[in-house]
Amino acid sequence: MLARHVSTCVPHDFYLQWRAQEGAPAAFRDSAPGGPPPERWLQEVWAHQRVRREELKTTDGRRLTVLHPGLWNHEAGPDFRGAMIQIDDQEPVTGDIEIDLTSAGWKSHGHFQNPEYAQVVLHVVWEPSATPPLLPTLGLQALLDEPVQELGPWIGGPAEFPAEWLSGHCASPLRHLDTAQQEALLLQAAAVRLRCKAHAFRARARVAGWHQALWEGAFRALGYKHNAWPMQRLAELLPVARGIAVESREGWEARLLGLSGLLPAEPQAGSYGRRLWDLWWRDRDTLRPHILPPLAWRLNGVRPANHPQRRIALAAAWVADPDWPGRVETWFAQQTDDPDPNADESLTESIRPEAVGFWRRHYTLTARDLPEAPPLLGAGRLADLAANVILPWLWARADAGTDPAARQRVEQLYFRWPPGEDNTALKLVRARLLGEAPLPGRRSVALQQGLLQVARDFCSTTNLLCENCRFPALVAQWNPSVPGTWPEPTPAPTP
Ligand code: SF4
Repeated sequence: MLARHVSTCVPHDFYLQWRAQEGAPAAFRDSAPGGPPPERWLQEVWAHQRVRREELKTTDGRRLTVLHPGLWNHEAGPDFRGAMIQIDDQEPVTGDIEIDLTSAGWKSHGHFQNPEYAQVVLHVVWEPSATPPLLPTLGLQALLDEPVQELGPWIGGPAEFPAEWLSGHCASPLRHLDTAQQEALLLQAAAVRLRCKAHAFRARARVAGWHQALWEGAFRALGYKHNAWPMQRLAELLPVARGIAVESREGWEARLLGLSGLLPAEPQAGSYGRRLWDLWWRDRDTLRPHILPPLAWRLNGVRPANHPQRRIALAAAWVADPDWPGRVETWFAQQTDDPDPNADESLTESIRPEAVGFWRRHYTLTARDLPEAPPLLGAGRLADLAANVILPWLWARADAGTDPAARQRVEQLYFRWPPGEDNTALKLVRARLLGEAPLPGRRSVALQQGLLQVARDFCSTTNLLCENCRFPALVAQWNPSVPGTWPEPTPAPTP
């Protein structure tokens, strides 16, 4: 399949082989037989929330809701900073998360008397001990969203990147590959990324159903980098939100904005915020335990067009359409083996709601009128939605239904899809890997995804100095036109 999209002289799975020897799969393999997985792998599980989120309970039996898992801290101190959790119906709290193999780590690592750990609100461990813990504790082992051996090789996703990264050690060997070879490498990495994301969708669909898994992915994509988690939480609340009848798109705006905690507390008389508030107040008491605290959202530094209020208005338009997931399915059913060069436009037509009423000319509930009416979903965002949500979800469905032809059609679309929005993470990894050089080959979302996957598999396992990173050596020893320069074949992980 992939060979159709990349150079024909390239073995179809060399990146998969590299990955099997490195990164997350290697970290997982390194654990002692029968023993707990390495701590680094537990951090991955937490970062990507590969747990059954509805069933989380602290070791003393209290319901735990993760409103934000926090930002991965690669420096000294707790493993995740700035997380937000809620225990039972108490006020949500913000703080740090420390991850250890066992509860005993809290004492034996000296965290309990280290001021750096004073803000830790949750201790996440693989196997909790029977003795009462010193702070709220979550045991991961029994709560993974799929069995550990299945999850091991496929866990993955975008990582957080510190902004000060500079050109990496791999930039030089990559420069010695020709454009076709560079493109082949990145597209193979993109193929791995598609499967990682598809795997997560399939795991979630087993628990929540295919449509709910799609909703969660779509909402999360609307949250961009900083508000992905509260948006995911809103999607998780959809079954509850649907428990009270609501018919209009405006009614859904009121419901979702009310649940988000982002409706202004005292809207001006006659404003649109007031109108939504009047729709929301009747349901507020019933839904009160689920309302997110405004602090769950990050609003500083968010571009006005990406403000969560506007993104929630878009999500409300989707939810108000009783057949939105069906639109995605219908669009895909119309794709043939001959990839439609305008598939992105036809998807846009299928799923982009019109910006109507208030949202035609406002980015937020309190912003001034806009001179023009921007679309609710731009082309770049749609490309990200396609690459991160819709195509992986369709691939997972095709795979679960054992329909190789449908899987191939998804891949054809994926490798031809136009590029998404540029962002800091992409700029950074491009600078690290390629320096000033342009992306090899035809610009596509898959090339962007390939870059992000290399960053995730290699950059994120080492430090800013590329210490012990094997990627440069792998690239240097690889020359697809010279037999014998391939890495030794190793069994690839089976999805
Ligand atoms: S960590 Fe590895 S893959 Fe990342 S820039 Fe450095 S050498 Fe390249």
